[in-house]
Amino acid sequence: MTKHRFLQFLDTVDAVIARALTEPALLDECETALAALIAYDDWLPAEFAKPVAEKYQSYVLYVDPQSRYSVSSFVWGPGQGTPIHNHTVWGLVGVLRGAERCEEFPTPESVASGALRCAHQHNLPRGAVDRVSPTIGDWHRVSNALTDAPSISIHVYGADIGRVHRNYWDEATRRVMPMVTGYSNDQPWITAR
Ligand code: FE
Repeated sequence: MTKHRFLQFLDTVDAVIARALTEPALLDECETALAALIAYDDWLPAEFAKPVAEKYQSYVLYVDPQSRYSVSSFVWGPGQGTPIHNHTVWGLVGVLRGAERCEEFPTPESVASGALRCAHQHNLPRGAVDRVSPTIGDWHRVSNALTDAPSISIHVYGADIGRVHRNYWDEATRRVMPMVTGYSNDQPWITAR
């Protein structure tokens, strides 16, 4: 029954994308839809909410047939987080459970030899939504803001994000490195609608 919430969200995003809006307008509309989805925590199946001790998980929930967007659940165990990375496409991050720490960084190419410093840090509480995109700031590091419990966020990107060729910042070598993340699961939750 609660699957209905997620399917309704997909219908809304489909309709928004079909309108071919400018990016700011698209982000406004999709943020409203994502905020409505994460206002309820009764729809995500347990298999896509499972933390794993070794590493944070990114479970793909849906990929648009034309790869115009994808939706995934990120599950952070205590202390888990991403490297500093970019996306190359628009993205929305909405916290479903727990809380997330977001650290924003300038584009590495824009700073002098390897001195990449966090420009802004903020915490996203449950129900909050954050945005990324090459036009508004695309480099960040995301981690669990809780030290004693898992956190879960729902991510929407303007592509099949697991297949996108993008980058992370290697802190040891201070270099931009290539990255294709894939997903933690083989099959999206929703494969037919
Ligand atoms: Fe990210």
